[in-house]
Amino acid sequence: MSHIAYVNGRYLPQKHASVHIEDRGYQFADGIYEVICIWNGLPVDYAGHLARLNRSLAELSMRSPASAGALTLILKEIVRRNHIDKGTIYIQVNRGVAPRAHAFPGEGVKPSVVVTAKHGAGSPESVAEAGVKVITAVDQRWDRCDIKSVGLLANALAKQAATEAKAYEALLHTSDGTVTEASVSNAWMVTPDKVIVTHPATQAILGGITRATVIKIARAAGYQVKERPFTLAEARKAKEVFLTGTTTFVMPVVQIDERPVANGAPGTIALDLRQRYRAFMDGLTETAWNV
Ligand code: PMP
Repeated sequence: MSHIAYVNGRYLPQKHASVHIEDRGYQFADGIYEVICIWNGLPVDYAGHLARLNRSLAELSMRSPASAGALTLILKEIVRRNHIDKGTIYIQVNRGVAPRAHAFPGEGVKPSVVVTAKHGAGSPESVAEAGVKVITAVDQRWDRCDIKSVGLLANALAKQAATEAKAYEALLHTSDGTVTEASVSNAWMVTPDKVIVTHPATQAILGGITRATVIKIARAAGYQVKERPFTLAEARKAKEVFLTGTTTFVMPVVQIDERPVANGAPGTIALDLRQRYRAFMDGLTETAWNV
């Protein structure tokens, strides 16, 4: 079945969809994006993703391409036309098309908008039940990782290194050993006295929408959660390490580089949070599209 994309006002078979060669997204990575999980045909944390999309636009002084209502109609249409039950939708907004020059083009240039969809959401449960291996890599990104920019080369290089090492993810750390996040997900650890720790939502990380929901779910379940930086040395000695993200859900980490985390089995807290997160997704209703 061919995929249908939305491109600047038109729904097209993806293989016929294209953008201009002078789109600033192509030349300068001057664009932002969101990935939203679709679960049983409904968006997970839609309001959060839309708020982050608008925040990314505002941080880059980009105009919003559509009202929340208009964008919601486009996304629902993409879900419908692609028959997505469990999958993801990808939204990209670029500053627009203009002759190549670093400074922003004039007010008249309209942002470009692309929406695509994919079938399949998250790794199979068997992956989470076994837990995953991660490698470590120096965080080579810029100082505004809070903006969900399409400038993802450093993330891509880290993920490629993980893939070559047959690892699921790359844990990113600064030169002083602080773990920021991972290449496509947020990083967490559980201390020996069972405190759940994750890096605060500063400009050093992407404030994950899943991260925010998992913090709420964990606190509601009675766990103690602390948003504070932690080091690779702490992570190596942690009781548990896990990852969160739109396509990761909650994923236990059982190995960092070649060394096991704790006894090398998935952590009970991570597995419990995964189950609670899955229950939250299973409980979505039509109101999931409300913003
Ligand atoms: N950090 C990075 C670098 C990411 O790319 C992602 C995935 N978008 C995340 C964290 C997780 O964010 P979210 O939960 O919003 O998917």
